[in-house]
Amino acid sequence: MEIGKIDSPKTVLVVAAHPDDPEFGCGGTLARWADQGCRIHYLICTAGDKGSKDLEMTSERLAALREGEQREAARRIGAADVVFMREPDGEFEPSLRNRERIARHIRELTPDVLVTHDPWRRYQLHPDHRNVGMCALDAMVAARDHLYIPQLFREGLMPHAVPEILLYGPDTANCWADISGSVDRKLDAIRAHVSQVTRIQELDDRIRERARQAGKAHGLPLAEEFYRIEQR
Ligand SMILES: [Zn+2]
Repeated sequence: MEIGKIDSPKTVLVVAAHPDDPEFGCGGTLARWADQGCRIHYLICTAGDKGSKDLEMTSERLAALREGEQREAARRIGAADVVFMREPDGEFEPSLRNRERIARHIRELTPDVLVTHDPWRRYQLHPDHRNVGMCALDAMVAARDHLYIPQLFREGLMPHAVPEILLYGPDTANCWADISGSVDRKLDAIRAHVSQVTRIQELDDRIRERARQAGKAHGLPLAEEFYRIEQR
């Protein structure tokens, strides 16, 4: 199956744990949508301030570096904007406060598609990937009825039910997007994360090979895979 009913969404919200997750997880699909005129909004939940093996690096310097890299990567994808929640890396909690912050975003932007981590991916080690995925889905539920987080409604933010949710890095996939025409942009955007990527050629090969494997059984030369949930 190709990407579902909403093949060319107007507005997409990507809720990701760290700078670089959107590009690795679904950069080809995002670039393709951007080319179709879709407005893509990034919400990056943590500062990514611990992802370094450089023993001289500090969290403050790394956070600033990674925000800059994420802005550049989003520009290469064609995204409309990037918002940073700046929670500490590795410590994001699916708290009511964070749920409210994401729900506020959903009501403000009224996306057709919400894209986030699959929180049910087995053996996923990074706590932020589990917790951000879960919190984004909880926020999606809170965004759809006015009595959830009544403060939002009082501020004039109307309920919004996101019609389609796509989970990247899925435990099992039920939806595949053709990225043959956009894989180069995905790779180019990944390269913007200078502090995170080494051995570029190897990385390119690995990503292409993974995309080939994902598309193989579905007649697509190169694909990204998702678990898709429809909300009626
Ligand atoms: Zn991550």
